[in-house]
Amino acid sequence: MVLRRVRVLLPLSILMVSGFMLLSGCGSSSNVDFVAKYEPWRKTEENACIASGAVHRTNFIRARSALGGPSVCGTENPYEMSAALGGRISMKPPALLRCPMIPQVERWLADVVEPAARQYYGQRVAEVTVAASYGCRAMNHVSGARLSEHGYANALDISRFTLESGEVITVKGGWYGTERERVFLRTVHNGACENFTTVLGPNYDANHRDHFHMDLARHGRDGLMRICK
Ligand SMILES: [Zn+2]
Repeated sequence: MVLRRVRVLLPLSILMVSGFMLLSGCGSSSNVDFVAKYEPWRKTEENACIASGAVHRTNFIRARSALGGPSVCGTENPYEMSAALGGRISMKPPALLRCPMIPQVERWLADVVEPAARQYYGQRVAEVTVAASYGCRAMNHVSGARLSEHGYANALDISRFTLESGEVITVKGGWYGTERERVFLRTVHNGACENFTTVLGPNYDANHRDHFHMDLARHGRDGLMRICK
């Protein structure tokens, strides 16, 4: 089995476990063990995205140097996204994402979040709070679990939406909050399922009670299955 971009500079303990690799130590950012499998589609997809010109570099979407290092984590051509829709919606703190995520985040904000904010609050969204983007860790921080899509910069967690008026809608407080908060948050959650292959929110489990998780993982045999919970 060949691992992508593994440069063994740090001591990595590697155990073969039924086709997976159990890795311990992931750069210097995490001590959590995880299992990861070599998945060639990731590089193919990233290259195709970059070649397609789907991501336009702006003051708000900057190319960054490769993420990862001596592990399976990371991506070779990540971007730092500090705002969407030409700067109209700030993303704080900026998200580190691989190419295919950027246009999907833009579409979700433009086609789902903005219309929902106009419909239910009569105003635009000024800012979304990024609870997590790139992070080399196991799913749900559970030792021994599969490497999270966050480990590939292929996932984004959003915990709150700030409107132009300054009003803040949090996933944690609003999911069971006022009628308007509930409708807005369910609309943007359900709408995300059109843009991402995995969408998890408070209905999924307690780990997601305070944010929406969105990623572009491949699910199922053909990779086309979607998870929307
Ligand atoms: Zn997440």
